[in-house]
Amino acid sequence: MANDALSIEESWNDVLEALRVTVGPDSYQRWFSQTVGLRHEEGSLILGVPNPIHEFWIESNFSAQLKAALTGVYGQDFKVRYEVLKVQKPTEVIEDEEEFTPQVSNDAPIASEVVFGDGSQWKMLNPDFKMENFVVGPGCKFAQAAARAAVEKPGQAFNPLLIHGGVGLGKTHLMQAIGHSFLEHAPGSRVLYLTSEQFANEFIQGIQKGDTERLRKRLRRVDVLLIDDIQFFAGKDATQEEFFHTYNVLFDAKKQIVLTSDRPPCEIRELENRLVSRFESGLTTELIPPDGETRIAILRNKMQDMPCKLDEELLIYIARRIRSNVRRLEGALTRLVSYKSLGVDDLDESKAELLLKDIISEEEGRNLSISQIQKHVAEDFDIRLGDMSSRQRPQHIAMPRQVAMYLVRDMLKTPLKEIGRSFGGRDHGTVIHACKAIGQRLEREEDFRHRIARIRAELERLEN
Ligand code: ADP
Ligand code: MG
Repeated sequence: MANDALSIEESWNDVLEALRVTVGPDSYQRWFSQTVGLRHEEGSLILGVPNPIHEFWIESNFSAQLKAALTGVYGQDFKVRYEVLKVQKPTEVIEDEEEFTPQVSNDAPIASEVVFGDGSQWKMLNPDFKMENFVVGPGCKFAQAAARAAVEKPGQAFNPLLIHGGVGLGKTHLMQAIGHSFLEHAPGSRVLYLTSEQFANEFIQGIQKGDTERLRKRLRRVDVLLIDDIQFFAGKDATQEEFFHTYNVLFDAKKQIVLTSDRPPCEIRELENRLVSRFESGLTTELIPPDGETRIAILRNKMQDMPCKLDEELLIYIARRIRSNVRRLEGALTRLVSYKSLGVDDLDESKAELLLKDIISEEEGRNLSISQIQKHVAEDFDIRLGDMSSRQRPQHIAMPRQVAMYLVRDMLKTPLKEIGRSFGGRDHGTVIHACKAIGQRLEREEDFRHRIARIRAELERLEN
């Protein structure tokens, strides 16, 4: 049994000491510094982790190191069981919520499609969007790991799983890959994929035909619900209400829910608070534009299924010119491959440049930079550019700084962490707070709204 001579704190500290060496300081800091040895129980150590992603991550990446460290300290094989340390915000009380019971049906499995009485069909999964085609790099490895974990333990730790990030970064791909993996894991599961707009349309049609009940029943018997682009729920109050109930029914029945959005839910204006808090109550993860190596890996991956191949130099060329959007990267590749397959001409860099002219200029059209926004906002509010990254907090400086953060986020869709870095090394929570504060003020104050609209218009003119 356990080495009873050592208290749980002492032994866990010893394990941590060993881990610090074997996993390296960065991983240690990120994954182990917040863990707590809670108690010994029947030959196991009960380990407190701040959230389920820690459990998943430690298990999938460091189990060998952990095992070795435990054996070192206890002198025998020792198991670990995880407990999530609960320091969650209290969940809000839902008033007059109707009783809904999930419809358990014994009908034939409907797999990945739902066909309605009128013959309309909810989209099926795109066969290209599978997990094995999703190239993993630093910008998306966390999201991809979370997606896999959601498939392994549906409806548990990562519910809902929310993936957000800019256009063309793989949100739909990853979401549908989750659907495919479910169908592979548990054939016959009812996986339903639809965009928030499709959800709204179905609901409105249901109202028009007076049979929303049927829609509800269909929705509520799915095993996995994938809702793409929830930002389009904004401002659609009745649809939000309907979705709220569907969401609750499925969530309570421990069905896996996956959502995507082009920004964090708290930044979606006109999205009800109770939805925001639910969407953010599971695991939220951001997709970040891929780095150079990953862009090349993606190009190689996409090229596999294409009729002819480009030289490595051309792949590097494309990856160098197109950085912000994987869909665009793919578009460039397809165009060059099509051209090459005609076999009329040699394809070199200058030819490629010509062929990709519009795509490259679209990419570079985003030439508005963070510092231009900072400079312009600073001038408008008559503060110094240096104030944008200073630690000072007086309101006449803090407010314009928040405006600039808000505009960077809104216009450039820069990842939160990067915005924080550009504003004097602030953390991403500060950026979220700034965007929220400005968003609220925009709703309340008309003068402020006009001022920001004018600044934005001026910046847009700069961009061209
Ligand atoms: P989003 O929904 O974020 O706008 P998509 O999921 O539609 O983006 O992705 C756009 C295109 O880029 C798709 O063809 C997708 O396959 C591809 N793509 C994006 N990220 C990756 C990745 N990590 N690996 C492979 N393909 C990717
Ligand atoms: Mg998409």
